[in-house]
Amino acid sequence: MTECETTQTSPPSYACTFCGQPWDAVQRLLAGPNRVYICNECITLCYSIITAPPTEDAPCDLPPASPTGPTL
Ligand SMILES: [Zn+2]
Repeated sequence: MTECETTQTSPPSYACTFCGQPWDAVQRLLAGPNRVYICNECITLCYSIITAPPTEDAPCDLPPASPTGPTL
């Protein structure tokens, strides 16, 4: 009577933090700190964005700074 019970832990399902694609659906998935992942497709997209010349009409990801000056 041999019980060959393999208690292998299933590999955690990593997914791209940006697009949500699982690790097995993309070619490469890079891990960052605090369980942040980015796939090769998002890297390519980000690279094309940061290498593109900035345009004034492009929407800004950051919220516009509100004028919070000292009230006299
Ligand atoms: Zn992605």
